[in-house]
Amino acid sequence: MSGGRPRLVSIIVPCYNEEEVLDQTLGQLLALQPPASVSGFEFIFVDDGSSDGTMAKLRRAAELDNRVRAIEFSRNFGHQIAVTAGVEAASGEAVALIDADLQDPPGVLIEMIERWAEGYDVVYGMRRSREGESQFKRHTARAFYRLLNRLSEVPIPLDTGDFRVMDRRVVEVLLAMPERHRFVRGMVAWVGFRQLAVPYDRKKRAAGVSKYPLRKMLKFASDGILSFSSKPLDIATYLGFIAAILALAGVIYAIVMRIFTSNWVEGWTALMIAVLFLGGAQLISIGLIGEYIGRIYEETKKRPLYVVRERLGFGRPESVERD
Ligand code: UDP
Ligand code: MG
Repeated sequence: MSGGRPRLVSIIVPCYNEEEVLDQTLGQLLALQPPASVSGFEFIFVDDGSSDGTMAKLRRAAELDNRVRAIEFSRNFGHQIAVTAGVEAASGEAVALIDADLQDPPGVLIEMIERWAEGYDVVYGMRRSREGESQFKRHTARAFYRLLNRLSEVPIPLDTGDFRVMDRRVVEVLLAMPERHRFVRGMVAWVGFRQLAVPYDRKKRAAGVSKYPLRKMLKFASDGILSFSSKPLDIATYLGFIAAILALAGVIYAIVMRIFTSNWVEGWTALMIAVLFLGGAQLISIGLIGEYIGRIYEETKKRPLYVVRERLGFGRPESVERD
């Protein structure tokens, strides 16, 4: 914590086809009053390869307000990568993450910044309620965070998104983590330091539709679990043991029947069940191992995480201090 020095807070906003909501978001974010402990804001919007007018809106905003910066990706790289690009570009003493769709209320952000200024290194929003999301999303999200927490070696807070404020020292650790399959909320939990949860009510989207179809949600969930746990591999081993024990019991049963009774085990039903069970268990296990190996392969390629088409509004030092 730095004493009386002016402290800038960088606010990162990932945007993917958010044209419909962006005017409202810009309006609300740019109007935020920095709390007394903070000298000012910079706003870094990351356009994650949008195909609508998102970038045009950001360009105009950057011309009108010198605190606005924009990074445009060459294509869609995904939410977690967009967040990472914003964090890399941030120059603030603290870095805040917020969605573009106003589901995370900007007012709560101010409360989080105040907690950070009191000395917490990470202040994250914890969803007390979720408005305007389908039953399916609510239930799967709830189950996912509980499963993840159970499997993960570090406790990952329940019902927590990326909506948060992080101190510079947490950001530095995050930037030193080069992994490709980024599950930012888990990575921040891994870093440690003093972390505080701020409960809030998650609003419904102010405009537009969710940019997380089921396919992206599944990828996100598997990134979370596979990056933070190797327990699924243990499950493959357990399955093997269970199958072996069942097979042994079957053998003993067959022998006992043959020796001590006048009838013996016959028929192909039991055989078929055993073959199918084992075949299934083996395929699942191989697939699981393949998931981990695929990730090792991706890491070894060492490609850049994202490709930038254009950067706007950076290097305007006059915008760092208020007035
Ligand atoms: N987003 C992104 N890239 C993507 C998908 C989403 O940058 O490929 C952004 C999106 O613009 C929004 C945030 O990530 O600011 C959260 O997405 P969304 O609100 O669609 O997800 P949901 O709230 O429905 O889970
Ligand atoms: Mg949303």
